Amino acid sequence: MKRAFYIGRFQPFHNGHLTVIDRIIREADELIIGIGSAQLSHDLENPFTAGERVLMITRALEGLSKPYYVIPIEDIQRNSLWVAHIISMTPPFETIYTSNPLVIRLFREAGMPVFSPTLFERESHSGTSIRQRMRSGESWEHLVPPAVVKVISEIQGIDRIRDLDRNDNDPETVQTSGADHV
Ligand code: ATP
Ligand code: MG
Repeated sequence: MKRAFYIGRFQPFHNGHLTVIDRIIREADELIIGIGSAQLSHDLENPFTAGERVLMITRALEGLSKPYYVIPIEDIQRNSLWVAHIISMTPPFETIYTSNPLVIRLFREAGMPVFSPTLFERESHSGTSIRQRMRSGESWEHLVPPAVVKVISEIQGIDRIRDLDRNDNDPETVQTSGADHV
């Protein structure tokens, strides 16, 4: 039984992530997806909750041919203990797939084999550029699986991101009638 571990923040889960998962299921028997920075949500870098990210991933992977587990993992503020923290939260695994330099280093130092899949159309397929598109009203839907478009619509995710982008002085947040205070 060969289990592989793949970690990201998945803010949001996009088609680049899907290419990594396609590779892993060809090379491993089971897949563990760790949702990093699970405690973060409702800020511009991390708009979606861990639960919403679980929903995006499980809906997008419906019908996947191999078993998989999706596990939210909160940050700890000690990189030297981070691999042990991951291992304490996941089913046992033998290989890691990541392109993140810090994650590569931490697992290699722990003596575990790391694979770094080629980045797929990275300029457009990055969480940062997709979130920027969501903020500015550009199209982003073609960069994520259709199931993710649906989840973001259900949770009114674009409205949330636009609100996160406002400040107290933005006229859109001032109520012109009704409530006495905001
Ligand atoms: P952000 O810009 O918010 O950091 P991201 O696109 O880098 O988002 P992460 O959740 O940080 O997404 O990445 C999770 C993992 O997926 C990392 O190992 C990352 O290198 C990898 N990854 C991200 N984008 C791609 C891509 N286009 N092709 C292949 N792998 C990718
Ligand atoms: Mg990243």
